[in-house]
Amino acid sequence: NQGPVTVLGLGMMGAALATAFVKNGNATTVWNRSASKADALVAEGAVFAPDIKKAIAASPVVVACVSTYEVLNELLAGAADELKGKVVVNLTSGTPEDARACARWAEQNGVRYLDGAIMAVPQMIGLPQALIFYAGSQELFAEHEELLKLLAGTNVYLGEDTGVPLVYDLGLLSLLWSSLAGYFHAVALVNSAGVSAEAFTPFALTWIEHVITPAIPPSAQEIDSASFETEVSSLNVNKAAIEHLVATSKQLGINSDFSSAIQALIERRVAQGHGTHSLASLVEAFKQG
Ligand code: NDP
Repeated sequence: NQGPVTVLGLGMMGAALATAFVKNGNATTVWNRSASKADALVAEGAVFAPDIKKAIAASPVVVACVSTYEVLNELLAGAADELKGKVVVNLTSGTPEDARACARWAEQNGVRYLDGAIMAVPQMIGLPQALIFYAGSQELFAEHEELLKLLAGTNVYLGEDTGVPLVYDLGLLSLLWSSLAGYFHAVALVNSAGVSAEAFTPFALTWIEHVITPAIPPSAQEIDSASFETEVSSLNVNKAAIEHLVATSKQLGINSDFSSAIQALIERRVAQGHGTHSLASLVEAFKQG
């Protein structure tokens, strides 16, 4: 195996990470504020260290996964001496700036630091479909890639800037929330006509497969080349259509905040003279703040 490892934080995610190491036979030391969360792991072969400093001292590599960077920063600062010369792989979620600040702290304190963003639920940890984005020193990532492969089938190194994994993470979460919110709004609309979510869903899935998914790669090309002329569907056409959505939602007493926000972006671009451009040009409206 890839040697001893310490895991700080045994919440739902931390426990899954520690389990993956234990199952592979790595000597795994674990620490958690609430000791009882270590019981199952100890039964599987992990060693629980009630003192975080001792937990850190036990292994050259420390994987951290706690609720927030605020918590993480406090834990790391309290064990700065023990962390000197160690590798910290931080998988706590936060903002890109949180990650960069933590990396700066690590550098100032002689800690070798990788930041990662987990794109998986705990049940997926260790499976091929789990994805983790990493950044930090490439040399450090290469050194520990074999160990990190125990956590996810796909590990993507994104460069030195430790803020970038969380940029990807937030981008994918934005996509998740907005697409699911679009589905929930659609269901609220069809429910108002007595149509159940289950009756509507096959059409939603076909729409995603045949219309939404194929629209993304050409949008990427348009955005990267900043050329938004379209033969398919202009902002002018979408401006008229989304008015119907907002008006109908209001008539039915369905919350229209979500569609009104999209409407405002479309209207702004049209007002700026981009009515003949494609929907992809809305990326410019986002960039305008
Ligand atoms: P949980 O709420 O299950 O666990 C939170 C962890 O943080 C626990 O170990 C908890 O300790 C610890 N903690 C909280 N406050 C303190 C504190 N003041 N001092 C010491 N320890 C503290 O969360 P998850 O395990 O689900 O998530 C952990 C991280 O992983 C988060 O950043 C989350 O965004 C990220 N993540 C989670 C995913 C998921 O699906 N669960 C997916 C992708 C990322 P205690 O047990 O003592 O309360």
